[in-house]
Amino acid sequence: MYAGRAMLKTTVLERGFPGGELLNTELVEDYPGFESILGQELAQKYADNAAKFVADFRNGVVVERVRKREVGVFETHTESADVYESPVVILTAGGTPVKLGVPGEIEFAGKGVSYCAICDGAFFRGHTIAVVGGGDAATEEADFLTRYAEKVYLIHRRDELRASKILQARLFANSKIEVIWNTVVDEVEGDEQDLVRNLKVRDVNTNDARDLLVTGLFIFIGFRPNTGIIEGHVDHDEMGYLRTDANMHTSIRGLFAAGDLRSQLTRQVTTAVGDATTAAIAAEKYLKAIADGKPEEEIVSSGGYTG
Ligand SMILES: Cc1cc2nc3c(=O)[nH]c(=O)nc-3n(C[C@H](O)[C@H](O)[C@H](O)COP(=O)(O)OP(=O)(O)OC[C@H]3O[C@@H](n4cnc5c(N)ncnc54)[C@H](O)[C@@H]3O)c2cc1C
Repeated sequence: MYAGRAMLKTTVLERGFPGGELLNTELVEDYPGFESILGQELAQKYADNAAKFVADFRNGVVVERVRKREVGVFETHTESADVYESPVVILTAGGTPVKLGVPGEIEFAGKGVSYCAICDGAFFRGHTIAVVGGGDAATEEADFLTRYAEKVYLIHRRDELRASKILQARLFANSKIEVIWNTVVDEVEGDEQDLVRNLKVRDVNTNDARDLLVTGLFIFIGFRPNTGIIEGHVDHDEMGYLRTDANMHTSIRGLFAAGDLRSQLTRQVTTAVGDATTAAIAAEKYLKAIADGKPEEEIVSSGGYTG
């Protein structure tokens, strides 16, 4: 939207339909201006707004590779062998939560299965739910979810957690949390309303299987930023998220990053929208500076633009 309003010729390449993770989100209750809104409806509004300002949407286009050929020229290669050339690329490919890969997980996503505690926790007020994982995310989010849930089972496949000691201490001190050690989830089951009601869990040492009655399952076994399409080295943190300056500029000049694939404190719709706004405006200034003949290395500083 911002790029279109700046009269930049803007093409949006999307492998599916516009909306990203919003299309997997039932209800968004934490986006300013809406008491609550369906994820799909918000996604449609974004697409309509951007299209109004002449952004050209190409859906069903899978990007395979983005490479900087020379100053002011990026090549974006797609699965169908089309190559788009542009002086700037704003990367907003998000990330992918690692899946358990068990029956019922995909079917009940958004109907009790979630990968985001801050987004979906409030839907489980007074419920008994389960969290899967053993790292920092699982431990921290299990603790967070007790703000809403009556009881939280933390299911972990080993007999000790990988999480930092301070998070573990907080977890063990929380009387609403029960850790189920050496256990995996084999299946997610639902009721006739298509909502999660039960987990088939199994002790990995004894192979004993049992039912665990819960209405929610939060899975935190990893999240991978979709950054593999960038050719060449680009600065990233230890988890693979792209490092940017305050203007969303990556270490590759002309390549901007916004949203979930960026190294930052939190990953929400509000932050993705804010990042993208900054990236589009910064991209416009970058293009102007290039057009004015400024050398690339002089255009950007982490404090802002001088061009
Ligand atoms: C289940 C769930 C519920 C959530 N609920 C909330 C909530 O209530 N409130 C909130 O604020 N946040 C919520 N979030 C987080 C929020 O959805 C994300 O922070 C936000 O969508 C990030 O936007 P993004 O554009 O960075 O990435 P994404 O939404 O992941 O979008 C990335 C897009 O890039 C496309 N893409 C990726 N790779 C390629 C490629 N190679 N070629 C072409 N296209 C590609 C994808 O198809 C996708 O459309 C939720 C997340 C999940 C998973």
